[in-house]
Amino acid sequence: MDKSKNKDHRQLGQELDLFSFHDIAPGAVFWHSKGWIIYRALQEFIREKLALEGYQEISTPVMVKSDLLKKSGHWDFYSEHMFNLNVENEPYSLKPMNCPESSLVYAAKTRSYQDLPLRLAEFGVLHRNELSGVLGGLFRVRQFVIDDAHHFVRPDQIQDEIRKLLLLVVDFYKSLNFKPEFYFATKPDKAMGDASLWKQAEKDLEQALKISKVKYGIKEKDGAFYGPKIDIHIKDSQNRDWQLATIQLDFQIPERLKLEYTDKDGKAKRPVIIHRAILGSLERFIGILTEHYQGAFPLWLSPVQTIVMPIADRHQEHAKKISDELKDNGIRAEVDSRQETLQAKIRDGSLQKVPYIGIIGDRETEGRASKIEDRKISVRTREGKDLGQLKLSQFLNKLKEEIDKKI
Ligand SMILES: [Zn+2]
Repeated sequence: MDKSKNKDHRQLGQELDLFSFHDIAPGAVFWHSKGWIIYRALQEFIREKLALEGYQEISTPVMVKSDLLKKSGHWDFYSEHMFNLNVENEPYSLKPMNCPESSLVYAAKTRSYQDLPLRLAEFGVLHRNELSGVLGGLFRVRQFVIDDAHHFVRPDQIQDEIRKLLLLVVDFYKSLNFKPEFYFATKPDKAMGDASLWKQAEKDLEQALKISKVKYGIKEKDGAFYGPKIDIHIKDSQNRDWQLATIQLDFQIPERLKLEYTDKDGKAKRPVIIHRAILGSLERFIGILTEHYQGAFPLWLSPVQTIVMPIADRHQEHAKKISDELKDNGIRAEVDSRQETLQAKIRDGSLQKVPYIGIIGDRETEGRASKIEDRKISVRTREGKDLGQLKLSQFLNKLKEEIDKKI
């Protein structure tokens, strides 16, 4: 592919009516209906996967007293990147990450060793104060949502929990037709916390990587100050490398927020937190997907999956019935009833990257079957391939199979 022809996601977002940015809210996305369909489809995909993995989804406030972020340690390292405000003479912050509040949900109940691991997922709205000069479309924003989760585990569960997580990450990306690459980031010079805990944690992470049989590279001394981590990268269709997400161990927050569980021996112990995101910021991920596919999203993510085009006025009613039947079967279908030539309609549908174009003319309406599923539709792909005349039931089966496989 000629790289110079590749479009930027901002341009594609405008051409395909997915989202816009406005000076009134720098670094925050205005999702248009079509972009929001993609966003929600992605979120739904994540939710379906997590439901099978024993996660509980929670939701916590966007604005909290800064006190919590001081206690958690974020204030010292992060306050200049936060939006801080004053409410009734008390400092508040817009949360830059979900961990401190997730920890409060953990601490809201007495936890026993048998309750762990506890996996709390959250699509919280986060704010980070990036300088306006570095904001760039969906790639660098001030307001965003991460497919975030916090696993609260006993130290003896770290290895197994990481192993499961690695498999989940591989599975996620396989479903999306990407191959994740892993990097193990070890203890930095400025690390905080107990040295023997660090050593054990590094051993656990590396062992989990080995058992999972995933290939990984090493990022020497690139771990977070509060624990070692595994970074997850992918390559897009233009062979660009993206670091999307991380799996991080954290011994600091449990200590600072005094999180506890009651162990077998009846004593109170500290859990370890695993922070993890798989796709990372959904905004950024959609930006990457938009450029990766150059707007031609796979069927399951396409805002409009099929456009039905009547050739002449007398085919309008039939086209509408076909489209309604597609919608009743969960397909995002539309009718192009404009008074344009078929050629112009097909051109517009292809420019809008609608995966399938269904044409209804005399050949399709003549001697039509009484059962709607036996009626005919001529189908073309957005790439211009002619699939010929299909029964509606055949077409539906094809769509459903493709949606299931996410191809
Ligand atoms: Zn976190």
